Amino acid sequence: MKKVLSFCLILCAKLALAQTPHVCSLSKQNAFQKNSLTKNNLSAAQASLIEKYDVGFHHLSLAVERTSTAIKGNVRTIARSKVAALDTFLFQLHANFTVDSILGSNQNLYAFTKLGDVTAVILPQSIGLNQTIDLTIYYRGTPPSGASAAIGNGFSNRASPTYGNQITWSLSQPYSAYEWWPCKQSLQDKIDSIFVSVTTDTANKVGSHGLLKQIEPKPNGKHTYHWQSFYPINYYLVMVTVGQYAEYRQYAKPKGYADSILIQNYIYSNPAAYTNNATSILATKPQLELFSDIFGLYPFHQEKYGHVMAPFSGGMEHQTMSSIGIFNYGIVAHEVAHQWFGDNVTCATWADIWLNEGFASYSEYLARFYLLPNTASQELSDMHAAAKQEVGSVYVTDTANVNRIFSSSLTYNKGAAAIRVLHYLLGDSMFYKVCKTYQTRFANSNASTQDFNDLVNELSGKNYDFYFEQWIYGVGFPTYTTTWNQTNGKFYLKVKQTNTQNGGLFSLPIAFTLKRATGDTFLILDINTSEHNFEFPIGGTISSVVIDPNVWILKNSTLTKDASLSIGEQAETLGLLAYPNPGEGMLWFEPSLQSTVWLEVIDLRGRICMTLSGKEGFDLRQLQAGIYVLRLRDQEGRQQMIKYQKY
Ligand SMILES: [Zn+2]
Repeated sequence: MKKVLSFCLILCAKLALAQTPHVCSLSKQNAFQKNSLTKNNLSAAQASLIEKYDVGFHHLSLAVERTSTAIKGNVRTIARSKVAALDTFLFQLHANFTVDSILGSNQNLYAFTKLGDVTAVILPQSIGLNQTIDLTIYYRGTPPSGASAAIGNGFSNRASPTYGNQITWSLSQPYSAYEWWPCKQSLQDKIDSIFVSVTTDTANKVGSHGLLKQIEPKPNGKHTYHWQSFYPINYYLVMVTVGQYAEYRQYAKPKGYADSILIQNYIYSNPAAYTNNATSILATKPQLELFSDIFGLYPFHQEKYGHVMAPFSGGMEHQTMSSIGIFNYGIVAHEVAHQWFGDNVTCATWADIWLNEGFASYSEYLARFYLLPNTASQELSDMHAAAKQEVGSVYVTDTANVNRIFSSSLTYNKGAAAIRVLHYLLGDSMFYKVCKTYQTRFANSNASTQDFNDLVNELSGKNYDFYFEQWIYGVGFPTYTTTWNQTNGKFYLKVKQTNTQNGGLFSLPIAFTLKRATGDTFLILDINTSEHNFEFPIGGTISSVVIDPNVWILKNSTLTKDASLSIGEQAETLGLLAYPNPGEGMLWFEPSLQSTVWLEVIDLRGRICMTLSGKEGFDLRQLQAGIYVLRLRDQEGRQQMIKYQKY
């Protein structure tokens, strides 16, 4: 889902006041405890009862017009019992609606009690483990208008202020599906397949999931759109949209895929709606082909992708047909990418929403990077600027707060910026391998932050837990204060690191470009503590230094030349000479030491390889051959840096 910026900015200002930073481990714990259905209008007992069955199939058969939100119809549900004896079947439907009757497959009437937003069907005999129940709920009413969904109401009706088309549309994320159809609002239980049949005025078209199987003529100027989808789908991705549309088709041809994929666009029938948005609409095909290349084939390739317009401020990744209020290049890319990150693999809990929104937002940048490269750096800079508004962790610690779940700065932009850091750490090849494997391993299912963390560790063969602690569960981002100098043929660099919030320090290899008339040179230095001092022999005159030249890292940084920075000159404060140098590892000093000194052996990436103390005969024989900087410090705090070569 994507909201337009003006709304996001208001949201950010509110959040900045409302939130306080958390300690990483605490925030993770709290989130797991809090990740209940607190906003889902179910008590703990009801939440437990509703998990006693697994939804296999829904068929929504509804009467909906473009002029009103009133709904009349029925929903058939086929579910499987997950327990030995299921005697109550619970579902959610807003108190506004009347349930007329509930029928079994043999037309038997079920008794039920509807209390507020929850209905309990009393089963005449209990259903055994893995046995199915097949019932059809007949209901009618008008959905609520309390603007409870992330954007507006669960079910809305309005005319487009720009194009005049009157539209009735649904937007259920995260907890508002029950505001228009009887359902089970559980992220963990994907509906295995879904049919949507909507009867409406013949002037209308109906957008929904999968393939349009039939437009069935009905009496009294009506017809019924029959959509069918055989891919598993989450409750909040179920959608109907009704209005007067013109249809525009494209076909995508992903690399290595023999067939083509239909892109079916329902655009307001006012012709200006197409002409004004054609550039963005036509961008769908190359974007879908690009994402098929880098994330794996479009997950719903046996059905379709498409857009259906509705007058709201943003876009929503309804499975196989995104709802679009505003067409622009970024929103289209965002919702296309969601078909992989959000729809095929859905976040396991709302605390993990960054796995949907961070990837969709980062994909906006990737689309520009590969397809519109001249616009990529602006996109990146906007993403970083928005991410810097953040207060708190990317991981959601309060899933009852819809504004926090969909925080523009944290979930979308810092989520995207954090994914870019992971992209940098893994490199292109491993990053895209992770993306593709995530799509296949968790296809048609859900994944948590821990699942993703485990996958990164497994595929890379390295432990990236630190990345998740620092960037996903942790707060803030790094500020680097860097000074440099060049004197006597040596280059000196001092890097200080702080966290913008009350969080820990970050461990990252940071790239520096040293600009010289004779040709630039590059360094990659591990920055993982509050202060690092580096010294390198270097020829040519360095005119300037650039930190992180490809802008991989979300950071604040200052970089200044400091003519007084000359660590080597501190040699005079101890005045020692090391010998033999180069040598095989045994090291003495001249004149001989009068008191204990501390010795740190630092490699050229700034890592401390060894720490020793003593008065004579330092043993460095375990070091690998190479060039090192020895940092000596005596009891008075005087220091000396010596370049040392180990054979
Ligand atoms: Zn989104």
